[in-house]
Amino acid sequence: MSKGIIKGVEDARERWVRTGGIELCVAELGDPDRPTVLLVHGYPDSKEVWTEVAARLAERFHVVLYDVRGHGRSSAPVPLRGGFTLEKLTDDFLAVADAVSPDEPVHLVGHDWGSVQSWEFVTVPRAEGRIASFTSISGPSLDHFGQWIKKRMSRPTPRRTAQLLGQGAKSWYVYLLHTPVLPELAWRGPLGKRWPKILERAEKVPSGDYPTASLPSDAAHGAWLYRDNVRSRLRRPRTDAYAHAPVQLITPTGDAFLSEHLYDELEHWAPQLTRRTLPAKHWVPRTRPDQVAAWIGDFVTANESPGPAPQTAATGAYADRFSGRLVLVTGAASGIGRATAFAFAESGARVVAVDRDAEGAARTAEMSRLIGSPDAWGEAVDVSDEQAMEKLAEKVAAEYGTVDILVNNAGIGLSGSFLDTTSEDWKQVLDVNLWGVIHGCRLFGKQMADRGQGGHIVNTASAAAYQPSKALPAYSTSKAAVLMLSECLRAELAGQDIGVTAICPGLVNTNITSTARFAGVSAEEEKRRQKKSSRLYGLRNYPPEKVAEAILSAVVNNRAVVPVTPEARGARFMSRFAPRALRAVARMEPPL
Ligand code: NAD
Repeated sequence: MSKGIIKGVEDARERWVRTGGIELCVAELGDPDRPTVLLVHGYPDSKEVWTEVAARLAERFHVVLYDVRGHGRSSAPVPLRGGFTLEKLTDDFLAVADAVSPDEPVHLVGHDWGSVQSWEFVTVPRAEGRIASFTSISGPSLDHFGQWIKKRMSRPTPRRTAQLLGQGAKSWYVYLLHTPVLPELAWRGPLGKRWPKILERAEKVPSGDYPTASLPSDAAHGAWLYRDNVRSRLRRPRTDAYAHAPVQLITPTGDAFLSEHLYDELEHWAPQLTRRTLPAKHWVPRTRPDQVAAWIGDFVTANESPGPAPQTAATGAYADRFSGRLVLVTGAASGIGRATAFAFAESGARVVAVDRDAEGAARTAEMSRLIGSPDAWGEAVDVSDEQAMEKLAEKVAAEYGTVDILVNNAGIGLSGSFLDTTSEDWKQVLDVNLWGVIHGCRLFGKQMADRGQGGHIVNTASAAAYQPSKALPAYSTSKAAVLMLSECLRAELAGQDIGVTAICPGLVNTNITSTARFAGVSAEEEKRRQKKSSRLYGLRNYPPEKVAEAILSAVVNNRAVVPVTPEARGARFMSRFAPRALRAVARMEPPL
């Protein structure tokens, strides 16, 4: 065994596995006594596509990766034609698995063609018992794909035909790879040279040690993966390609080569299926290593524990998307913030509940754990306190990780005419409603951007952001500023795959009315107005849970501005198409 064979990973050990006249270059990391995770790369790649993921997994597992025949440092079959059939690739997999984990089944992970071939391993009888779990990333089974096409051809509906045409268009490169000689010439010539830049630009793959120098020959040899298998399998797909191990499917929603519909009926073939989606392009092992490694690690651990087949605890509507992700919500001790923390918890997210009310934040965290969050923490912080927010950001990064989704929601109400509003009142409302959001975006947004693996920021504005009112000058100004800040930030962070959303609720039944301040009135009158507005909001009775739902959906769909409640949507419409009418409403006396 030799050391240092994978760039960037110091302690990788190398061994050679012989199978059918081929020498496979195999690298191992981590403790061999731990469960084995076997990573299979795609096209045109070599095992180095896994460097980032492997390094993360090696802290917990025995990680093994190998260069597929004809790629990287493994030797190529002679002749090439017929040397890359799925049967031969299965021989290779079994030889590697037997060499690195002779007594225990391995946890298989495949990306792109690595996943296509792994589907073969996990569905053929001769590999039964050798695979403990399979994580599939961006590479369907050719048999399932063949059946998918057949079904759409034999029973076409407009929807099915559109799906078929959609995937047909995404497969343009597959047709090209079937032409003789040209792909080889292109890869060994200009395409091979430009590929790193193309990946960087089109796929946002960070530049560095990848792809390796073997790329032109990897890509030229790998063309035979397509030629040896695709046409024959798609024409005569197996009808018994059922997975004999639990499968986790990770689907990048922005994959330029594969339609999400390919997996619509996958439960039929893989009954123990866990679905995961992430907003990213095709090369997620390079662009989203944290997320990919976390999902692989959790799936492996779940399938290592004895007992009945594990189910994912999270049952929320978006468990596929938020499971294991780190979500920080401010103002999480009450109302919209608490409901949002719970909705993320139900979807399996890890939750940091932040509020100046320490007890309330701790309670939200405790409840979050009960309803599905694998981990949740309460943090007592005043969002308007810059230093306290800085400390929070440091602590969260050090102890829980980089926040994937930030919800700047803490806010306070202030009512009263402009002439009654003192500068102290202004300061208070802007400190919390605007500066609180600025601190959150600045500190956690920076961490997200520095990590370079995307993320999302949600800022709770209000319908008051675009609906003027003589009764709410300070509050509305703070919320209009939050709306504009969100729009500007959205433009700035788009290039880094960080989405920004402004949520604009109308009247929502929360505690805000009982704590809102009323400028220019006596303490007694303030109490009376708080009570009255609480009653009104209670009568309106729009639940904060619905705002939480809108927040999760806005993150999933990367929406810019989301009015919630019919009155908020109506006001948004009027602000665009009937601003005069909205101005007339602004002059009306509030019903207090
Ligand atoms: P809420 O009073 O029920 O919850 C607000 C939470 O924020 C409370 O737990 C409070 O302790 C916390 N908080 C206040 N100031 C803080 C600070 N400085 N630091 C940390 N935490 C702080 O109110 P809610 O209705 O859930 O409000 C949440 C957000 O929604 C606010 O930004 C509010 O302006 C906005 N909003 C509410 C409504 C509505 O009708 N309820 C409508 C539009 C927008």
